[in-house]
Amino acid sequence: MHHFEMRDGELFAEEVQVADLAAAHGTPLYVYSAATIRRHFDAFDSAFSGLDHLTCYSVKANSNVNVLRLMGEQGAGMDIVSGGELHRALTAGIPSGRIVYSGVGKRAEEIRAALEADILMFNVESLAELARINDIAGDMGRKARISFRINPDVDPKTHPYISTGMKKNKFGLDIEKSLEAYQLARDLPAIEPVGIDCHIGSQLTSINPFLEALDKILAFKARLDDMGLGIRHLDLGGGLGITYNEEEPPHPREFGEALTSRLKDMDLKVILEPGRVIVGNAGILVTQVVYLKETPSKRFVIVDAAMNDLIRPSLYNSYHRIGEVAAHDRPKAKVDVVGPICESGDFLARDRELPGLEQGEYLAVYSAGAYGFAMSSNYNSRPRAAEILVDGSTARVIRRRESYDDLVALEK
Ligand SMILES: *Cc1c(COP(=O)(O)O)cnc(C)c1O
Repeated sequence: MHHFEMRDGELFAEEVQVADLAAAHGTPLYVYSAATIRRHFDAFDSAFSGLDHLTCYSVKANSNVNVLRLMGEQGAGMDIVSGGELHRALTAGIPSGRIVYSGVGKRAEEIRAALEADILMFNVESLAELARINDIAGDMGRKARISFRINPDVDPKTHPYISTGMKKNKFGLDIEKSLEAYQLARDLPAIEPVGIDCHIGSQLTSINPFLEALDKILAFKARLDDMGLGIRHLDLGGGLGITYNEEEPPHPREFGEALTSRLKDMDLKVILEPGRVIVGNAGILVTQVVYLKETPSKRFVIVDAAMNDLIRPSLYNSYHRIGEVAAHDRPKAKVDVVGPICESGDFLARDRELPGLEQGEYLAVYSAGAYGFAMSSNYNSRPRAAEILVDGSTARVIRRRESYDDLVALEK
């Protein structure tokens, strides 16, 4: 469910006409719907109301400070994966006691900054990282709360680049070796083991892999209990999928009910790290047709958005629905929608049936709110797009379009 809809042949974002935004702010342009973000956050968070829980939005999905602030106002915590994301979360006014820190390569200065901020916990992914956190916390006269990220070896049945909980992935600790890791952590002076963490992948369209992982984690927790390690936090990561095309992912309610029935009688605080499911369908990328081009084998629609703006089609071969901003009745044709970048991998859609398009018209690329702007770059010296947040009938620029001067500003 989202708040982008056609009314009398014109695309609206909530109460604002998308064509007006494109004309006023130029393209390519990211447009987010605040009502959609609030609604998705609320639907997710309330699915766990039967449990002591904290929903830590995964900052990397869409890191704009204004987007973070919107969720912070609803009581969200944040899941961060870098010092930069810590800075964003704190800038957005997120209480540090609601921040968890994941990732395999935390550097010393990032660990120090997170300890200084006194975040809720580190999700630790190796013994080398554990030793480093212990050293730094010891030097600072602090105790670091940690969970180990356990790799439960389950197949999330998603794209290989976003599967993270299988034996061959770089993430987490092997579940067989983890008992020793907790024993070690318990005896370190500046470490307090408080939780167990796992995150098995992204864009999951079934809850079965989550439940399979949960069963393994709970069996493991029982062994920790036997050791007298009082674990209170259970972080189950993110990964719930969304509809890009014809996927039918479970509703957060179904996910919440399944977890609640398994966890309700346990003395645990459950942490969830949703990203895509909150913001994915809360954003569109608006682009303009630059040229139409026909070759003997293909029809190309060349638009002004490219893989530097939205890399998901190029990186994961992923599908994004593309629709008109102003509807018209033209016969359909099969086209490739491509950007101006000098790579044949620069496409937004291939062999897509679209209504006949004309030079200069606007198109909306849907489901672009997660891993869209956040993964954008300046490749081909393309200034990054502006971002707009629509809230009811107001539209606010939450990141201005980069200029050519911005492109060279750090190269003095
Ligand atoms: C990316 C990530 C998430 C969020 O994943 P989504 O699929 O966007 O929900 C959560 N936790 C960790 C550790 C991640 O790396």
